[in-house]
Amino acid sequence: MSLDQDDHERHDHEADPHAPNEHRGPDTDVWEHRAAALQEALVAKGLVTPDQVRAMIEDWESRTPALGARLIARAWTDPVFKARLLADAKSAARELLGIDPGVPELVALENTDRVHHVVVCTLCSCYPRAILGVPPAWYKGLAYRSRAIVEPRGVLREFGLELAPWVEVRVVDSTADMRYLVLPERPAGTERMSEQELAALVTRDSMIGVARAKEPIGVT
Ligand code: FE
Repeated sequence: MSLDQDDHERHDHEADPHAPNEHRGPDTDVWEHRAAALQEALVAKGLVTPDQVRAMIEDWESRTPALGARLIARAWTDPVFKARLLADAKSAARELLGIDPGVPELVALENTDRVHHVVVCTLCSCYPRAILGVPPAWYKGLAYRSRAIVEPRGVLREFGLELAPWVEVRVVDSTADMRYLVLPERPAGTERMSEQELAALVTRDSMIGVARAKEPIGVT
């Protein structure tokens, strides 16, 4: 099973077993029992071993936005890599991170002072989990999924992101086959920063497109 295969199977009315407790629905216990029963059955049939399940969980938990941030920081500092990321994000991720993004298509979209991309999955929760980890609860919520396409500027404003009227907002709808990674603008005043320092400015939300990358400390 890939990291992303579950996405279209789980819809908004269903509890997310990976969500923090406060976001879990009333069916959480049911899901936990189901997962345990399923694992027991698969182990009994010899289809998986408990070790394989544990390894898969460890792999899931190792996927965090820090991976995506490394891609962004490299793209900010290396124009050749940036071109590769924008042309073929899967290959670029494989090359830099040594991991398979695990989805049919991964597309990187560059934000500029003229164009701003924001990612949503209107159907459920499709997300580049292999390089960003588990999506935030709001990403899976009906409010974001329905409003992001109807009134993106209003939604972005609620995230604290006010875009100039001349900036074109492009909302991209993520699917099981197509996941997106936003390449945020490199903040001003970061010319002397190392790739590692730059990566620390790249937030999860900036790679979804609901925020800008963080400003470096001391720059206003
Ligand atoms: Fe989805």
